[in-house]
Amino acid sequence: MISVEQAIEIVRKNSCSTPYSELKKVSASSGYILYEDVISPIDMPPFRQSAMDGYALCLNGNTVYKVIGEVKAGDPYHPVLNPGESVRIFTGAPVPDSADAVIMQERTQVADDKLTIDAPVQAGDNIRPRGEQVLKEDIALKKGTKLTPAAIAFLTALGITEVSVYAKPSIAIVVTGDELAQAGEDLDYGQIYESNAVMLRIVLDQLGYKNVSAHKVADVYDDTLSTLKSVISNHDVVLVSGGISVGDYDFVGKALAELGVEQCFYKIKQKPGKPLFFGKKGDKLIFALPGNPASALSCFYIYVLTALELRSGNGNFTLPMIKAQSVSDFTKKGDRSQFLKAIYIDGSVEILEGQSSSMLHTFSLANAMVYVRETADSIKINDTVEVILLPIY
Ligand code: AMP
Ligand code: MG
Repeated sequence: MISVEQAIEIVRKNSCSTPYSELKKVSASSGYILYEDVISPIDMPPFRQSAMDGYALCLNGNTVYKVIGEVKAGDPYHPVLNPGESVRIFTGAPVPDSADAVIMQERTQVADDKLTIDAPVQAGDNIRPRGEQVLKEDIALKKGTKLTPAAIAFLTALGITEVSVYAKPSIAIVVTGDELAQAGEDLDYGQIYESNAVMLRIVLDQLGYKNVSAHKVADVYDDTLSTLKSVISNHDVVLVSGGISVGDYDFVGKALAELGVEQCFYKIKQKPGKPLFFGKKGDKLIFALPGNPASALSCFYIYVLTALELRSGNGNFTLPMIKAQSVSDFTKKGDRSQFLKAIYIDGSVEILEGQSSSMLHTFSLANAMVYVRETADSIKINDTVEVILLPIY
């Protein structure tokens, strides 16, 4: 069995970004990664801008100026100032070419058209120079930049409406299990409600993966084989839930082998999620997640998310790991690494009761996972521990 670190490394090596780009409207590009540098079509700001409400001055070394007019934001007005003259000006308004500086209004007194300033002024004060943020034809944002709200606003402020981004993978979710019923139906004896497809769909949606389809197969080999064959040929990434353990009705491993999926790893020295499978067919990625819901979600956050982010061009992605002080004791049994559902607040972390791989209730309360390495001892109150923050905000 391989270690968590080895497994993450194998996922990283095999999940490099797709060569595919797509053109997106900037307004619909949230969370995508730029496929190429974006060149600015304009200077930003496009003109010398006042950074204050105040007065634009044509300096003469004096403290008294004549006010000859007014320029407010949006005015196309270009008054010409001679030394000793000023104009009333407002934040965002174009500073006349003949003005040297802007003084904030709080540092002035005005009587009729006579302005007296009570602070020293240097040329350039409170003026945002034309092209201060970016010059026309320069790189506005580099290839590989994630399109956050600020980045999208910046591109929009440059007048850009379309960008080339890394295509996001299309993803198929395949749930296995004859015991699964749909919420809303009556539950027969022996059945449970399906929740992994719902969970994976939601977490994918929340993380910006919208091109997702869900499929269900019975615990029958032929059905498993034909569904997996079809989803692997039609999608970039396949996430299978359940059927990957060693039970007599776990057919996923056999079907993947039959379909020529190359195994990158199967089984990790970790708890939960030991029987995780990761494989490739061409540039398609296949994860077979354990059916136990908490295992499946834990494996999603640690391995699948890493693969999806790298595949989508986010080459810098690493798990958001921080250090925190434990307010709980935890007795570690065995030598597997563990991911413990926990609540992180302000530098402290509480390890929750109920860490079984079937317990979604505990996961529902968690905003973090404490990572206990293979070699680590049990945790004592006040120990510093490693914490992975969950992207659930
Ligand atoms: P398996 O990995 O198929 O052996 O399933 C392990 C456990 O997870 C069993 O208790 C299953 O009933 C449960 N399970 C499997 N798939 C799902 C699912 N889609 N939703 C909820 N529970 C599941
Ligand atoms: Mg099963």
